[in-house]
Amino acid sequence: MTVFAARDFDDHEQVVFCSDRSNKLLAIIAIHNTNRGPSLGGCRMWPYATEQEAIDDALRLSRGMTYKSALAGLPYGGGKSVVIGNPRLDKTKELFESLGENVERLSGRYIIAEDVGTNVDDMETMLTKTRHVVGTRTGGSDNPSPFTALGVFVGIKAAVKHKMRVNNLDGIKIAVQGLGSVGYKLCELLHKEGAHLIVSDIDTELNEKAKKEFNAKISSLDEILAEECDVLAPCALGAIVNDDTIDNIKAKVIAGAANNQLAQNRHGLALAQRNILYTPDYVLNAGGLINVSYEQHGYNKAKAEAHVLTIYDTLLEIFQQADAEKLPTNVAADRIAENRFQKSAPKKNKIAV
Ligand code: NAD
Repeated sequence: MTVFAARDFDDHEQVVFCSDRSNKLLAIIAIHNTNRGPSLGGCRMWPYATEQEAIDDALRLSRGMTYKSALAGLPYGGGKSVVIGNPRLDKTKELFESLGENVERLSGRYIIAEDVGTNVDDMETMLTKTRHVVGTRTGGSDNPSPFTALGVFVGIKAAVKHKMRVNNLDGIKIAVQGLGSVGYKLCELLHKEGAHLIVSDIDTELNEKAKKEFNAKISSLDEILAEECDVLAPCALGAIVNDDTIDNIKAKVIAGAANNQLAQNRHGLALAQRNILYTPDYVLNAGGLINVSYEQHGYNKAKAEAHVLTIYDTLLEIFQQADAEKLPTNVAADRIAENRFQKSAPKKNKIAV
């Protein structure tokens, strides 16, 4: 089993292994970086095939949260937890109480939230054991998806302004893949601004609903990525930009909510070489994270929303830096993030005399 030599270890500050025989808890809490503030990140429950898989996932995801929080302008660092288990079969109140106790032992260095396999009820259970939990009903931040959609919406506006030199979306053709909690809400916002929508979801009822409500054109699951459009908004799956799809993409801009849209980092460069503006996903989809973070100091919806709107300026900064330094936008985003979380690093190895 590898921890320190794992690919995503990348100077993690702390990795905590939690176990409790009485309720079969097996969990890992990874804290990547707290230079900007306490680490914040979701808890994933998944039936990992091996312990190594769970460790690798925790390290990769918590590192990603450091970058995401930094570019979201949040006073938080990056952390993540994973629970080894099947969320449909292995969930108990006792297990999450025990995890809450483990979070409490970290005295606020890690703030837990929901992720794949966990939900608001699990957060409420942990709230009985620790106050270092967000995304609860009690805390008031509610469903994150509308905030994620709002962030994606303003992000699309920033990308269109940068690429097409227009300030509004009137008549802009946007292909949306996935009409789930984020995708559908996004369509609503885009339609209100006068965008022409092309949509595709596995769920044909959602397609029909979008056709009726937004006058959207329905595309097939295979064709949506290759539609003639100004903006492609992936809101379903990761790795949609890959060796098989990239040559067929005709959009001028890619900007959507889905996590990890680039199959590999090199696809960011490949998009830039094809003159397609890629909007780094973790910047664009930070609205939900921004929203839950506001629970920590007394939730205020208006303040959370105003903060989500700053995604617009952050993206313009990334695009400008990418142009100035001739970098792919995903690389420019990472550099700005690193600058933000490394700059605030405490001066180590300096002894006052
Ligand atoms: P969701 O599960 O509510 O919706 C996903 C939709 O995609 C579903 O309607 C599903 O039928 C559809 N879909 C699945 N495969 C498809 C395919 N091949 N082609 C077309 N449609 C397909 O998820 P969501 O909460 O709307 O999130 C969408 C994406 O955004 C996910 O990748 C998620 O990780 C990411 N994201 C979501 C949030 C959030 O706040 N919900 C925050 C950050 C990132």
